Amino acid sequence: MTFADLRLAEPLLRAVTTEGYTVPTPIQLQAIPHVLAARDLLGCAQTGTGKTAAFALPILHRLGQSPPPANRKIRALILAPTRELAAQIADSFYHYGRHTGLRHTVIFGGVSDRPQIKALRNGVDILVATPGRLLDLMQQGFVHLKGVEILVLDEADRMLDMGFIVPIRRIVSHIPAERQTLMFSATMPREIRHLADALLTNPAEIQVAPASAPADNVDHFVYHVAKCDKSALLRRLLQTSSMPRTLVFTRTKHGADHVVKSLRASGLYAEAIHGGKKQNTRQRVLQSFKSDNPPILVATDVASRGLDIDDISHIVNYDIPNEPETYVHRIGRTARAGASGIAFSFCDPVERADLKAIERLIRQPIPARTDPSARPSPQTSEKSATLPRSAVQFHPRGNNGHAPQHAPQHAPRHTPQHAAKHAPARHPVRQAAASTTSPTHLGQHRSPWSKQHHRASAKGKHRRF
Ligand code: AMP
Repeated sequence: MTFADLRLAEPLLRAVTTEGYTVPTPIQLQAIPHVLAARDLLGCAQTGTGKTAAFALPILHRLGQSPPPANRKIRALILAPTRELAAQIADSFYHYGRHTGLRHTVIFGGVSDRPQIKALRNGVDILVATPGRLLDLMQQGFVHLKGVEILVLDEADRMLDMGFIVPIRRIVSHIPAERQTLMFSATMPREIRHLADALLTNPAEIQVAPASAPADNVDHFVYHVAKCDKSALLRRLLQTSSMPRTLVFTRTKHGADHVVKSLRASGLYAEAIHGGKKQNTRQRVLQSFKSDNPPILVATDVASRGLDIDDISHIVNYDIPNEPETYVHRIGRTARAGASGIAFSFCDPVERADLKAIERLIRQPIPARTDPSARPSPQTSEKSATLPRSAVQFHPRGNNGHAPQHAPQHAPRHTPQHAAKHAPARHPVRQAAASTTSPTHLGQHRSPWSKQHHRASAKGKHRRF
């Protein structure tokens, strides 16, 4: 199934092609037809599944069916709990809507409201907002919601956790009852059901099933490290351990680019793969990652879903994912086909709650390791001394835990010396480009979006707002 099969308008198809998307994700496959059919929707899915495009593309399609009037009014309102998410959603509307002529803007607190008011005065079709700033600007008379045809509540569970229920009710009371409402939530506790009952009418329900079981033969370790020390720790690990095929995960595209830059600055061979990269670049990078001289691959979650590579030795969670299921997806990239694998997680103090949630999901504590270069305290040295060998040395499949003869301990592969040995005459990045002979598509061998199921419900509901 392609985006064209979903009958999206041509300007949108052009935009997704530019983004490098080849196939819709499961949430997109499930959601887009319902949204195009003007149906209310309750989606259980987390960030990283392609959820934004699942609502943004059909919203742009629907709004694009009628040309905007001379004095534009807000026709679609997207509410998000945090400014980061709001900015990310607005960025997606910019990319997906670039050929549509529709206008959008984003408003959130913590920054001056002047540019936001200016953008609103110029007229927008789509408004992305956090609840607090939206209410503020509504009260000042800069935002009018009487023309809203489509309302989206993204990360509804987080909105409730953050105490946004009253602001949401107040905002919704200003929107016409005759509207389409889409609600997405990573979890479906009772409170979310109640909110859905109040806001949605006869919604289709869709779900991307969360994963919960990690592979058996993965050794997990966590480094408790401040965010600002993560890049130095990663460099040290790569330079002092044997990590033959390493995949590093960051939460954002920007984060992935930043890590690659820092590794390259130390002479390490690294490449990034994320939604901001062109498809041919992704293919080239994947091809080189499969080669005998792979780069350290730094990826965002969605970009990694289609990776079908058996011999990934190490996963590094440079950022702890804020959805525990994402951790399971990430480490599912290693220890394939009976091989063993190692997963390192770098946990800043602010990420501890996310780490705990992961440990609860996988039902095992993740042992802590100390940074090899940090001055060891008596307690930490003892801990390191009891670590299994696999914590520092990758064992390819079938060796029963014994170090392979061809990969002596502490045989770093990504150093300039190593790169020079394998690519004496060329810059590693250019060498990778030149060696690409048969491009590999994301998910060439198996569906990258396989863990899913779809439920449609036709319960009659009444709006209470
Ligand atoms: P989201 O879950 O909406 O935050 O999306 C996470 C990432 O997935 C973003 O970087 C998108 O660019 C990317 N993405 C969304 N849809 C697709 C797709 N069909 N194929 C590849 N990447 C996608």
